[in-house]
Formats: sequence, C-alpha cells, structure tokens
Amino acid sequence: MKPRVYDVIVIGAGAVGSMIARALSRYRLDVLLLDKASDVGEGTTKANTAIVHAGYDATPGSAKARLNVAGNAMYDALCADLDVEFDRCGSYVVGVTAEDLVTLRELADRGRQNGVAGLEIISADEMRRREPAITPEVTGALLAPSGGIVDPFGLCIAAAEHAVLNGVELRLETHVTGFLREGQAVRGVTTDRGAFHSRWVVIAAGLWADDLLHEAGLDGFTITPRKGEYFVMDRRVAEQVRGVLFPCPTPVSKGILVTRTIHGNVMLGPNAVNVEDKADLATTAPGLNEVMAGALRLVPSLDARDVIRTFAGLRAGGSTGDFRIEAPREVEGLVFLGGIESPGLTAAPAIAEEVVGLLGEAGLALEERADYVPTRRAIPRFSLLSAEEREALIAQDPRYGNVVCRCETVTEGEIVAACHAPIPARTYDAVKRRTRVGTGRCQGAFDTPLVIDIMARELGVDPLTLTKKGGASRFLTRPTKEAPR
Ligand SMILES: Cc1cc2nc3c(=O)[nH]c(=O)nc-3n(C[C@H](O)[C@H](O)[C@H](O)COP(=O)(O)OP(=O)(O)OC[C@H]3O[C@@H](n4cnc5c(N)ncnc54)[C@H](O)[C@@H]3O)c2cc1C
Repeated sequence: MKPRVYDVIVIGAGAVGSMIARALSRYRLDVLLLDKASDVGEGTTKANTAIVHAGYDATPGSAKARLNVAGNAMYDALCADLDVEFDRCGSYVVGVTAEDLVTLRELADRGRQNGVAGLEIISADEMRRREPAITPEVTGALLAPSGGIVDPFGLCIAAAEHAVLNGVELRLETHVTGFLREGQAVRGVTTDRGAFHSRWVVIAAGLWADDLLHEAGLDGFTITPRKGEYFVMDRRVAEQVRGVLFPCPTPVSKGILVTRTIHGNVMLGPNAVNVEDKADLATTAPGLNEVMAGALRLVPSLDARDVIRTFAGLRAGGSTGDFRIEAPREVEGLVFLGGIESPGLTAAPAIAEEVVGLLGEAGLALEERADYVPTRRAIPRFSLLSAEEREALIAQDPRYGNVVCRCETVTEGEIVAACHAPIPARTYDAVKRRTRVGTGRCQGAFDTPLVIDIMARELGVDPLTLTKKGGASRFLTRPTKEAPR
C-alpha cells in the first residue's frame, strides 16, 4: 500500500508552528502538525512575558525588527478572529538617570527606523500621573502606544484549534527523531510513533531546532538556551501597576520588567542567564533575588508576600542573533526556523505568512479553500460574564453553576468544555491553560481533586492515569480506601 504523503509536516506546535499550520490551512493542502509534548504550546510559548512588543528594540534591517512590527500590526484582527484576550495597553521604557534619557531617545530613533508608530518621550511628571506607583527616581519614559499584552498559551491553543478546524491533522506526544531522505531531499520524518511522508517539512521546534537542522545534515547554526525567571503576583497588586513597565534595556535582554498580565495579575521578570540544558526550567534563589531587586527599582512598593507563583522560561538564543527563516538550498523540501527568541510571540503571525510565502515561491501550490472557516470561538469564561449571561449559561447547562476553582471562579461547565474542545485537554495543565483553573492565590490546592474527577469522567479514563503535564507527572499512585460513609 502506498503511504499517505502530506503536503507539509510542521514540527513543533508552539506559537510559531501553530501559526504556520493555521496559515497553511487557508489552502487546499494536507498538513500534519507534530509535537512531542502532551499539549500544544508546552515549550517556550507557555513561559514568557506575554508582551506584544512595539518593535523599537531590534536592530533596524533585521528579521526580528521587520517581523516584530508586522506581527504587532496583525494582533487586533488575529485576536478578534481567534477569540483571544488581547489589550493594546501601550508600554513604557522607564528612565531613572539622566543617561537613561539618552538611551530612551536612541530607542525612539531605532523604533522610528523600524516603522513603529506613535513613539513619544514623556516627562517624569507625566509618567507619575500614568503610573502613580512608579519609582520616585523616574526621569522620563518612552511611551509605545502599540505595545500590548496577550494570553500567550490561549493564542497558541486558538491558532492550533483554528488549524484543526480547517483540516490540519495534529499529533501530540510524537517525537521527531530524524528525516526520511531521497538523496539530498527531505521527504518526511521519522518519529517514536512511526514515519510520516511529506513533500515539505517545516522545522519550528524552538529550542531543539538546531538539533533537527543537524539531523537534516546542515551545520552552522546553534541555539543556546537563556533562562528567564519570573514571579507572578496576586491580582490585588494590579491596583499598583496599570501597564507594561520596562527598564532601560541591557545588551542581552530587555531587562527585568513589571507588567500587568491579561488575566489581571502582575508579573515580574525575566532575568537572563545562559544554561546548558534545554529542559532546565528550575527557578533559583539568586535568579529570583535578581528579579525582585530589578522590579523594586521600577515599583518600590511591591511586596514579596503577594507572590503566588514562580516559573522560568528558556529563550532559544540563535548563534546569529537574529531570527533565521529559510529554505536551505542544500536540502530540498526543508524550511528551517531558528533563533526565534523574543519577540517571537509578537512576530509569530508574520513569521507564518513569511513561511507560506517561502513555500509558495518554492513551488507549493497555494489554492485557497472554498470551505475555509474564518474564525474560532473560545470556550465560555464564566468569570468574565455579566449576571444575565451567567444565568442564561446555567439555564442551558447547570454544570456552569458549579464553581470548581474559587479563586478564579472557574466552573465545572468550563472544564467539561475544555475536555471536549477541538483539541481536547488531556492533562491538568491543559485544562488550566484553557480555563485558568488553579491559577489563583491557592494555586490549585482546592480544585485539583475535583478537576481530576471531572476529567476522568469526561475523558472516560482511570483517574490514576491522569497527569499534570504528560509523561511521568501523575497525581495519584494507587486507589485510596473508599471514604467512610
Ligand atoms: C523569558 C522569555 C520571555 C519572552 N518574552 C516575550 C515577550 O514578551 N514577547 C514576545 O513576543 N516574545 C517573548 N519571548 C519569546 C517567545 O516566547 C518565543 O519566541 C516563542 O514562544 C517561540 O515559539 P516557538 O513556537 O518557536 O517555540 P516553542 O514554544 O518552544 O515551540 C516549539 C515546539 O517544538 C516542539 N518540539 C521540539 N523538538 C521536537 C521534536 N523533535 N519532535 C516534536 N516536537 C518537537 C516542542 O515540544 C515545542 O512545543 C520570550 C521568551 C522567553 C524565554
């Protein structure tokens, strides 16, 4: 029997791979999206600062600069189409010395060269008026009105779901181990679940993209993981922080910032430390101390007792310092994306268009589908609804009247919906990222057993098999004795 031959296989269902799969799903193509993790967005996409950057940071003329500004401009329509939370709240780079004012002017000039609209240097008084908790040492700030905040995992899930709704096949827990070759051409991938044939393979594998490139027989590009650590603070801190506050940047990062998140928390971080291990997501005492010290320089009234969680993410620092997006001449049938570090989330929708363009130029037939579904809807978010909307939802399905997560007001109905979504949530973290269950002050202490029960019932599985995030991360090890009646 002849094997099925996909038009395109995309390796990696992070923000970038999911956006690429979604962009390809507009056309009459057979597309397979693969990821080794148990959910989409389990790589760097789940652990970053979630800023839609304006685009004044990157060097003019670089791919980072071009795709940042182009991606930023796409966000309003993109998030409306995908039903993803996004707030174009603007961002500030805050100066605290006289020299910083020089840096702010340089950043503004660079931003204008990159095509960023609306940049403005504002006075210290104006900055205090806009952000009353800002350090008294403020000397001025660069205001970027096009900066924003977004739900990064929500965006990735939405893009992947939209792709699936338009016919893309998604296979999770499928680790790509190598390539099928025909002479110099790549004709598919080998995985721990068998081989898949295709005309094109797109490597969008984040931190692991260089390993796959080498596997395909190409050298000359390496990725160094650069860790960034964070604090998440209780929602009540949002009274002190209205927007996105950057310090003046350092040579290796945009600096430790203080930002409101789209979900109403406040986040502090990240620092920037090169590490060896691409899976090292541990937070460290020195790293977190550095983050707190940096955040206090911007907002001195922050109180460490408001911290509800810490986490770390790894930047995929490429050896050229820029995004690398190309169809290498040496290997036919391959598109490679490497070094997609910040502003990769912002740039992802523009990167996806660029990849479609590359494939089209290389001969992939791009015939638009007549039956393309243009939008995707998220599952209801009970906590965001009006009293009337809540009543209507409960009347339709009484499970929306059963609150499972008290901190974030998440209902049984939402967890059920997550289990039956176009990409069904099969782990606790997958439910968490789709519903916000367990993300509040108690961090899941109350809801976890209830969620496990609901998931086991809805997915039709033994609760003992349920995991936090796939692999060996099981919650339960053996059946407990039946509770006394
Ligand atoms: C600390 C930090 C802060 C950041 N802040 C921002 C910000 O505020 N704004 C912004 O725009 N950007 C930011 N970024 C950058 C942004 O998060 C990334 O550019 C973006 O998430 C990259 O997405 P990706 O899809 O390329 O990678 P990933 O999300 O890592 O996805 C790659 C996927 O490939 C899969 N994979 C890898 N190897 C294989 C294999 N062999 N087989 C199958 N699957 C495989 C992985 O499981 C993973 O899911 C930040 C990054 C960090 C680390």
